[in-house]
Amino acid sequence: MKFAGKLTPLRLIKLFNIMACIFCKIINGEIPAQVVYEDDSTMAFLDINPHSFGHTLVMPKKHFVNFEDTPGDVLAATMMTVKKVGRSLKDNLGVSGYNVYENNDPVAGQIIPHLHFHVIPRHENDGLEFWPQLKYGVGEAEAILSKIKIN
Ligand code: AMP
Ligand code: ZN
Repeated sequence: MKFAGKLTPLRLIKLFNIMACIFCKIINGEIPAQVVYEDDSTMAFLDINPHSFGHTLVMPKKHFVNFEDTPGDVLAATMMTVKKVGRSLKDNLGVSGYNVYENNDPVAGQIIPHLHFHVIPRHENDGLEFWPQLKYGVGEAEAILSKIKIN
């Protein structure tokens, strides 16, 4: 990664994080991976501990920590690769659907701090269950909405 200008403390930390990042090491060819797809700006490889066979991780080649950290054009390119991977899973694994998710920050389960999307092939009655669902009490949805509504 090239840094133009001064090497500030923040940039030094970022440089250190990149050097320690396992996904950057895969992208740079320092660690092997089962690469499903690669282009100039994105890469997709098999998750080493899949939820289902064909579980693929899609990410930008450049190191960004999470969703907010990542510029829109990079996100767009990454999503195009998610789409290609989804198509390949449907066409070549005979699955009729898949989940796409991204763990954003450690509290949400993000272990590797290099933005990546999980693409999970799904089969009928595969037993993969995801989230519990709650119900809003009277006024609770409105209270939340008043906090998060974007004007
Ligand atoms: P997350 O919890 O969203 O950060 O997901 C990290 C994912 O990376 C997990 O599903 C791991 O199984 C996967 N993973 C960790 N190391 C490797 C590796 N060397 N090659 C492929 N997948 C990996
Ligand atoms: Zn990285």
